[in-house]
Amino acid sequence: MTQTAASVQDMAHHLHPFSDNKQLKESGVRVIEKADGIYIYDNQGNKIIDGMAGLWCVNIGYGRKELGDIAKNQMDELAYYNTFFKTSHPAVINLSAKLAEVAPAGFNHVFYTGSGSESVDSMMRMVRHYWASVGKPSKTILIGRWNGYHGSTIGGASMGGMKGMHAQGGLPIPGIEHIEQPWYYGLHNEGETPEEFGLRAANWLEERIIEVGADNVAAFVGEPIQGAGGVIIPPSTYWPRIQEICQKYNILLVADEVICGFGRTGSWFGHETLGFKPDIFTTAKGLSSGYLPIGAVFVGDKVVEGILQGGEFNHGFTYAGHPVSAAVALKNVQILQDEKIIQNVHDVTGPYMQQKWREMLAQFKYVDDVRGVGLIQGFTLVKNKATREMFPNEGETGTALRDIFFRNNLIMRACGDHIVASPPLTITKEEIDLMLATAEKCIQEFEANMD
Ligand code: PLP
Repeated sequence: MTQTAASVQDMAHHLHPFSDNKQLKESGVRVIEKADGIYIYDNQGNKIIDGMAGLWCVNIGYGRKELGDIAKNQMDELAYYNTFFKTSHPAVINLSAKLAEVAPAGFNHVFYTGSGSESVDSMMRMVRHYWASVGKPSKTILIGRWNGYHGSTIGGASMGGMKGMHAQGGLPIPGIEHIEQPWYYGLHNEGETPEEFGLRAANWLEERIIEVGADNVAAFVGEPIQGAGGVIIPPSTYWPRIQEICQKYNILLVADEVICGFGRTGSWFGHETLGFKPDIFTTAKGLSSGYLPIGAVFVGDKVVEGILQGGEFNHGFTYAGHPVSAAVALKNVQILQDEKIIQNVHDVTGPYMQQKWREMLAQFKYVDDVRGVGLIQGFTLVKNKATREMFPNEGETGTALRDIFFRNNLIMRACGDHIVASPPLTITKEEIDLMLATAEKCIQEFEANMD
């Protein structure tokens, strides 16, 4: 990549998240200056297909000017006020009503945050507060999954199961357990069907609950589809069995919908697509399509009732329900609704993408476990498809392909050796064709390099 003056200046003063900053100083960064629809543009005149919708978040696509207008009007009217001490404001009141309208039955309340990590941390504190409020203070342990991603705060990174994150700074914090992820391709036994594997993987939760004692367990927490873990879509039997286990042992079921929420899977929320009903679900990203930071924890009626018995919940953020973010989020949700964007993902672009994704990828020697739902898809780079042997040095091969995409003006992401895509939900069939044609060329180049 050619270093531009802006890139050099950036690296002089800016430490980047999830980056090796020493390496970045040598390679430079790409400076993105503007965006429109599914495209981002860098300062060297390149038009780049954003196959990741930013960080899985720009659901309505870039460049919707009406969100800027709403933000300006709200800033002029009430730039800031909080909702802590017996106050509220119209932007947050209106957004809450809209969210209760689009949420499944039984979800009539939201708790606001500024990000996905804050949503997860708030949920973690809330479930413990819930159990204390209903007279079961020993129920504090949270169970998550390896390779789950629940954010970067100390709480969120502990709740997640990213070993690289745990390796830094002594994580996870106490009180958090992890079970194996429901990845059929990587973990099934010879002859085991996906449905059988789904039940076996869900039963790992039951085993862990018995091990630590149901009276000590507060909640099970999982993404309906693991996103940053590599778009791991569990078999159809998995979530219904998880729900049964949670009910049997009186444990709250929490869906982390930070990626899946607001249409990514072709339903408003991922748990609707995957066929289960959580007690709480966490959101951010698609709530505002990333136009401004905001997150929300959707709290089911049973949990709200419990919390109302518990007195003050000593938790909250200065920017919770920020008026400008709330106004923008409301407009974003209205756009998703009025333009039937999620319906279109479900009926048209999702099925089209799945079909074309599978067709395009079938030709490749190192590509296997091709998968997707709605507009979230993945595949895995595998050294030997017959034996399912993975490449050594997990992540190296994925990153090599990711870099080829990047050089060819296509953003897709490598999660280890899983390659994932999650374009704006407004992508058209023609744009899907273009994105896949570019990806095809890149994978051909990658395979030619490998041989
Ligand atoms: N939860 C999930 C499932 C996520 O994918 C993410 C971010 O990718 C988070 C939580 C954390 O969100 P944020 O980066 O907004 O803190």
